[in-house]
Formats: sequence, C-alpha cells, structure tokens
Amino acid sequence: MGLLLQRGGCVTSFCMEPIDVLAQYFQFASFRGPQEAIIRRVLAGGHALVLMPTGGGKSLCYQVPALMPQKTAASEESGPLNGTQCEPITLVLSPLIALMKDQVDVLRRRGIDATFINSSLSRKERVGRYASVAQGRHPLLYVTPERFRKPEFIEAIGGRDVRLLAVDEAHCISEWGHDFRPDYTRLGEFRALLGNPTTIALTATATPEVQTDIVRQLGLRPDEVQLYHEGIDRPNLRLAVEEVWGDDEKLAQIAAVRERHPAGTGSGIVYFTLIRTLERFSELLRKQGVPHVNYHGDLDRQQRRRIQNEFMQSRCPLVLATPAFGMGIDKEDIRFVIHAEIPGSMEAWYQEIGRAGRDGRPSDCVLLYEEADLSTQMEFIRWSNPDPHFYERVHDLLVHDAEQVAAFGLEWMREKLHARQKHDRRLEAALAMLERYGAIEGTANEAGWEPVQLKVTGEIPAELLDADRLAAKLKRDQMKLLALVQLVRHEGDRRQFIHDYFGVKLIMAD
Ligand code: ADP
Ligand code: MG
Repeated sequence: MGLLLQRGGCVTSFCMEPIDVLAQYFQFASFRGPQEAIIRRVLAGGHALVLMPTGGGKSLCYQVPALMPQKTAASEESGPLNGTQCEPITLVLSPLIALMKDQVDVLRRRGIDATFINSSLSRKERVGRYASVAQGRHPLLYVTPERFRKPEFIEAIGGRDVRLLAVDEAHCISEWGHDFRPDYTRLGEFRALLGNPTTIALTATATPEVQTDIVRQLGLRPDEVQLYHEGIDRPNLRLAVEEVWGDDEKLAQIAAVRERHPAGTGSGIVYFTLIRTLERFSELLRKQGVPHVNYHGDLDRQQRRRIQNEFMQSRCPLVLATPAFGMGIDKEDIRFVIHAEIPGSMEAWYQEIGRAGRDGRPSDCVLLYEEADLSTQMEFIRWSNPDPHFYERVHDLLVHDAEQVAAFGLEWMREKLHARQKHDRRLEAALAMLERYGAIEGTANEAGWEPVQLKVTGEIPAELLDADRLAAKLKRDQMKLLALVQLVRHEGDRRQFIHDYFGVKLIMAD
C-alpha cells in the first residue's frame, strides 16, 4: 500500500490530453457538457459528485481518466517492485451484476483491457481475474460493493494503486434514495482501505437529501467535493400527464402518441406495473393490428435477451414492458415513453422517461394516470417492506427447514408464511434484503430465486429487526409515490416541480 503515497508524484505523460483519449478509444470528436471539466477535476485529484440525466454520458467521466497514460514516480524509480504493479487502476462500483458484462464487453471491443468480477463468474474464472488484477492488469475493474466482503478481493486490489474510485448509481448509498444497498454504506470504509483515492460518484437521480448523504457516506467533507449538477431538465422531452379512466382511454392516448411518431422515426416503450395488464393491452393492440413485442420478468432470460435485441435493432419499434426492461438500454431514437400505469416513485418514473430522446430530438413522455392504479402501487410498496416478524420467519425457515426449501422451493416457503395473496412479494423482498445485508447467499434474478442455492451465512442484521426503522422506510417509500401523485395534481409548471424535487442543495454550504 506504500505505493499509494506516490500518487501525488504522478505526471501525465507527454502531451496526451483527455480529448486524445476520447478520440483514440471512443472515436468521439468532442466532450459533452461538463465531461471535460469533470475529467480534469479528477485527474487533478479532486473529488466529484456528478448528477447527469440518464444517457448524459456519465461513464466517460471515469473511463477517460482511467485510460490516461500516467507514469508514477515509483515506476520511474523502478526499484525492487515489479514494474507492472505500478499501473494504476480505476475501480468502478456498480450495483448491477446484470449490466457489468455488457459494459465491459463494449470497452473490450474498443480495445480496452477492462474486466469485472462478480458472482456470475465460475470460481475458476474469479480466481483467474483476482490473479490478473493482482499482477497489475486492467486499467478498469468493475465490481459490486459486495465484493469487498471477500478477503481474496481485498488482497488482489490491495497491491494496486487505485487512481480513481468511481461509484456509479451513487444514489444506492442512501437510505433516502431508491434502490438502497446496505453495502454501499460501507464506502467510507472501502475508501480508507484503498488509501483514500480520488473519488467520483455519479447518479441520474438524487434528491438534495441523497446528495448530502452520498458525500457523508463517502467519508468526505462537503467542501472537498465538487458538485456537477447537469440539471435534470432534458429540453427535448415533452412531459405530459393525462388523467384517464379505463383501458379505452389509455389505448386512445397510446394511439395518439404513436401517431405523432410514425413508423420509421424511432421506437417507443409503454410501461406497465403488472404483467397481467401488459398482457391485456398486448391483446387489445394485437386486435388493432399494432405490431409490438412484450418484455417482462416472467419470460426466461433467453426470451428477454431476444426481445431486447429485436428492440435494439429496431426490428420491432414498440415494446410493452414492465420496469424489468430498460436497464442498460442505450438506444438513441426512443421517441416516446408512456406509462400506462403509475410507476412506484418519482425516481423510478424519472429514470424510465430518461431513456427517451437520447439523440436530442423531440420525444414524448406521457404519464397516464388512473386513480385506481394507485392502490396497486400502494400494495406493492407494502409488500416490499416486510416487518421484523416476517424477516424472522423467513430466516427461521432457511435455518431449520433447509432441506424442504431446497426440495420444494419458494412456493413451499410462501405456503408456510401464509403469503399467498396475489401480489404478495414479501418473500422476494425479504430474501433480497437478507442477501443485501449478507445474512444469506443465493442467486436471484428478475425471474426469481433459485431456492436450492440459498444458504444462510449470518444472523438477521439488527437493521431488519428494528420496527421503527422499517416503518420509517415504508413511510419514505410512500412519500416517493406521493410525490408523483403531487406532480400529476400540480397546477403550475411541472418541470419546475421536478427540478425542485431533485433540486440542487447547496451541499457546499452546510
Ligand atoms: P449515462 O451513464 O449517463 O446514462 P452513458 O455513459 O452510458 O450515459 O452514455 C450514454 C451514451 O452517450 C453512450 O452511448 C455514450 O457512448 C454516448 N456518449 C457519451 N459521451 C459522449 C460524447 N462526448 N460524444 C459522443 N457520444 C457520447
Ligand atoms: Mg450509466
């Protein structure tokens, strides 16, 4: 770790500028918006918090610094150290295992020796990657924060000069945000372990509370972190809210939006909360002769991939989808995103509409609001917030009835837990939280858990047994949905309302 002290002595080699790296590896002619300022900031060793809309180009803000040629003072001395060990590495923390491979594949196709380590790899592959990291390969390494639980990882990364720590989807740090991930709260600790490297945190959606929390959780002082707030406004997105009643009115709205964007001008997404509603609309559209594909969590992985590809290649320009669709969708010409049912939170809605109009051309984002849909979301929020007693029962089953669980799966568990109501997702929610806190291990994907592989690895964390804390979280989740309802009801400028919700808090000032 002594090497880390040498970072101050690093010199950028010769006349290679960020723009040259951009051209050489990415074949782009110019930076967008604040990208260059951010890159220069982190190259100078300054920390940054970047708020940029989805598709704004956050990745380059850490990928370009990662690829800047750099000589360290230590490598010039070429002492007893193995030269390759002096190569700096940029560590990217990302919450989504599902996306890592795609992100890394894109980089590798550009000739960049990036890699990832996560639980999707076989043991052998993982060991191989630890070794190549330890040996000084890979200027860019993607991991989830949970990776820090593994001593082998700490050992592999321990000998490297971490030039930059990039925290992608940084809102996961905060309990106040959506998608909270307990391991993200240990980031301050991880930073210390890595020798307090320069850190860049990036997200598309962070309320002022979340912004403050990100800085605090990183173990940084507000005055050390430069905030780059791109504004959340995407001028080319036309935002509309339509109050509707019944399927017919929804269908008419969908037709009206489609008419504004005739075939050949791009594609569109219609989001649903429930697979059941999605399928009902699919049938109605089919009767109208509207070609489309469906994407939801009940399809198997292969089917989902095929549909995603069809959509990406514009073979079918309309997709009906649940929120499972869209992670990593980087399609330029999405002309509209319609929500046929109200999404679960302001954050989720904003993230989903962010997929529209990445090419900068006018695009429509229409939220169809039917009051009856609200109760579905309220129910979802309740189900995704189990109480302490429920956590205890799930944990108990896994400890004492492991054989039955392995043999009969989640259905059996659900039966035991009397959680058989239609949308009761408490079991899934509880398993996900137990896994996030490291109390169990297993594999879960959108299609569900593999019960056979569930393994208890620890006690229930105190956080999940604290009724007050869980009640507060439930309340916060409800408030995020309420914000969306307020947006619908808002008489004034809706853009201003959204801007205030995700506003810039003067984090420097407090
Ligand atoms: P975000 O993480 O902010 O959602 P990405 O980093 O994935 O966005 O970038 C979105 C898209 O924009 C990518 O296809 C990326 O290659 C492209 N992009 C980013 N910056 C530039 C640039 N300066 N010039 C051209 N394309 C860019
Ligand atoms: Mg991104």
